[in-house]
Amino acid sequence: MTILHNPRKAATSGTQEIPPRRFCSAAGSVETCVSDKDSSRRRFLQIAMVGGTLAGLVTTAGVEFATPRPVLAQSKLSPDAALQELMDGNRRFTAGRLTSFEQDLAILKQNTIEKQEPFAAVLSCADSRVPVELVFDQSIGHVFVTRVAGNVVTPEIIASLEYGAAVLGTKVILVMGHGGCGAVKATIQAKEVPGQISALFPHIQAAVDQAGSNLEAATKANAKIQSALLREASTVISGLVKEGKLKVVAGYYDIASGTASLLD
Ligand SMILES: [Zn+2]
Repeated sequence: MTILHNPRKAATSGTQEIPPRRFCSAAGSVETCVSDKDSSRRRFLQIAMVGGTLAGLVTTAGVEFATPRPVLAQSKLSPDAALQELMDGNRRFTAGRLTSFEQDLAILKQNTIEKQEPFAAVLSCADSRVPVELVFDQSIGHVFVTRVAGNVVTPEIIASLEYGAAVLGTKVILVMGHGGCGAVKATIQAKEVPGQISALFPHIQAAVDQAGSNLEAATKANAKIQSALLREASTVISGLVKEGKLKVVAGYYDIASGTASLLD
């Protein structure tokens, strides 16, 4: 399955080389570049023919049945549609039907050198079990991600998300807590911790005060509090929300099932 990350390399190790092909419009939009279903399918089939074992591997993984999806540039999505795209991606992730790996990463890279047009922003925890792009089945240039332990809103996080919304045009901001969050757990326990780890606690304390010592309840409360804070503390974000150009929502990621759900 790893060969799908770099199909060209896999092909050159076989008997034929697939020449680089450009599927993009002059505008270089992501949508045009990755929605050429026939071309990506053809390339996939060419690679699969290079070696029988390769084809077998892919069949076992079920990847060949995943249908490449059209990915829209942010300018064409409404806030609701942007949120739907994220949640649809999570459904593909939980179903094991990832499509982002089928997209030609070389072309995506090439077309995002000059500009980026992410349709969504996500504020998530730094936890290694929450790889945002992966769990929402998104590729290069699609999601603007800020991560900090406890997914807390700080001035730097606000600045980053304001840039995402006001300059890049993200249509939705998802503040996402997750199961087994160490930052929330440590805040609940309120024990002495090394270095500056405790700097996180004041940000999360309000959620613990509100929800008590139940980790999941406190984590969900924290995601809601941080998303509300984002709406209130940023005039840029609240302005875009009022104009209907942006949506800020809270969510929770279940690390056991891989399911992301909305809390609002
Ligand atoms: Zn965490």
